[in-house]
Amino acid sequence: TVLTNQITAGEVIERPASVVKELVENAIDAHSTEIDINVEEAGLKRIQIIDDGDGIPDGDAEMAFKRHATSKIATPDDLLRVHSLGFRGEALPSIASISDTVLTTSTGDSGTLIHITGGDLVAHKPAQARRGTSVTVKDLFFNVPARKKYLKSASTELARITDIVNREALSHPEISFSFTHNGRELLHTTGRGDLLQVISAIYGVQTAKKMVAVTGQNEVATLSGFVSLPEVTRASRGYISVLLNGRFVRNQQLNKAIIAGYGSKLMVGRYPIGILNLEMDPALVDVNVHPTKQEVRISQEPELSKLLTSSIFDRLATENL
Ligand code: ADP
Ligand code: MG
Repeated sequence: TVLTNQITAGEVIERPASVVKELVENAIDAHSTEIDINVEEAGLKRIQIIDDGDGIPDGDAEMAFKRHATSKIATPDDLLRVHSLGFRGEALPSIASISDTVLTTSTGDSGTLIHITGGDLVAHKPAQARRGTSVTVKDLFFNVPARKKYLKSASTELARITDIVNREALSHPEISFSFTHNGRELLHTTGRGDLLQVISAIYGVQTAKKMVAVTGQNEVATLSGFVSLPEVTRASRGYISVLLNGRFVRNQQLNKAIIAGYGSKLMVGRYPIGILNLEMDPALVDVNVHPTKQEVRISQEPELSKLLTSSIFDRLATENL
């Protein structure tokens, strides 16, 4: 029902950045090679995500807005090995219940347009569209003013959106991302699979030159990625990114393990930049922890920590510092 969707929206959609995250992850799950993110007024006026992915078949498009409608899980067993980013089927109905949402989608042949305002279906009709999906979300939170009050300043909300876009781009160097705010381009990645190019697009060419490749392996995982030389630091841990099987994870132990890899090379209160990919058996990762799917519980945390610390330590030892 509309009410249930609005309640669920409270958990899944806290702010404009949550909309961007959910829609971009849907585009990634749909095997897109190009994702355009256009935002106006920090997302409160308009958020538009255009992808060139699989699209939704005509007959399934309206279903995608029903609660717990997901095409990504067929059996309970699948829950144990979630590869896709989304799997709860909550995002689209939640977003559409608290905004004015238009989705246009095509699998390559005919296309469909669905327009929902505050959870009510306004239009469902055939539409001309190239293969892929475009979702435009206007007037977010128009019917939940209480939620709007909790939002921070436009610049803070935009910073959170930028943060999400950066992370998605870092986790998918093989996808070309373009991100604009009020018509101004804030990020463009080539989609050629070059992580260092993405780092350069986000943190700047000079910083990218001071990043070194790190690899490693032990009995539980394989590690690859880049870390900054100890001379390139930031005042917060916010520039350390850990990906587990392609999914961004927030895990304090792993962050600490990365910092530990620097030994005593970092000044007090300074932190490195790092993008570290860990690949491990998905069956050992519990991803079903929190609706926003960021707090991930990992059975093999100590082994992963050791791998991070020793790989970074060994790599930095090869530099003449
Ligand atoms: P979930 O991602 O958890 O499955 P969502 O509510 O985010 O749930 O999306 C519902 C369904 O709509 C998805 O399972 C997928 O089948 C379809 N869908 C949503 N966005 C896209 C997209 N950009 N491209 C293709 N299919 C999509
Ligand atoms: Mg989703």
